[in-house]
Amino acid sequence: MKIKCDFCKTEYNLDRIPNTPVKCAVCGHEWVVTTQPRKNAWLMFFAALCALLSAIIFTVAVITHHQAKKANRGPLIANVLSVETTTDENGLLHVVVNGEIQNVSDEIYGVPDLIIVSTDDEGRVLAQQKFMPSATLLDSGATVSFSHILSAQPAGVKKISAHFADLQVPQEKK
Ligand SMILES: [Zn+2]
Repeated sequence: MKIKCDFCKTEYNLDRIPNTPVKCAVCGHEWVVTTQPRKNAWLMFFAALCALLSAIIFTVAVITHHQAKKANRGPLIANVLSVETTTDENGLLHVVVNGEIQNVSDEIYGVPDLIIVSTDDEGRVLAQQKFMPSATLLDSGATVSFSHILSAQPAGVKKISAHFADLQVPQEKK
């Protein structure tokens, strides 16, 4: 390694870092050779380690967040099984939503109101209709089906989904 006298700037070549203070042969200045380059390497390593650690923590946070989101689905799950269109005796077109509510928890749960959300192909909410399912209580592991006739649907509806009134309705994407 190369060292330089702080006083007269004379450069010397050393094979290794001396444990004792060195004395400049030119001006007689005495100083302790510091392990500056190695220190920097350690700092670089430490910085890289910190970056790696924060990346890992961030990944863990993302996974935890994802799992928490998934857990929000319970204890009740509402699924739309089929959407049919029927024409009544007056020739009016109706949309019938058939689905089921499942209790995936270990306890009896009251069934909240359901909101049928109609979205377009980009996920924008076009219409929302709230209704009360026939079942009021759902045993652990039990499934109850529902059928609801929607009022006139706006144009462009691509997807119809069911959500519980006290759970959050998906917001417009973007
Ligand atoms: Zn010197």
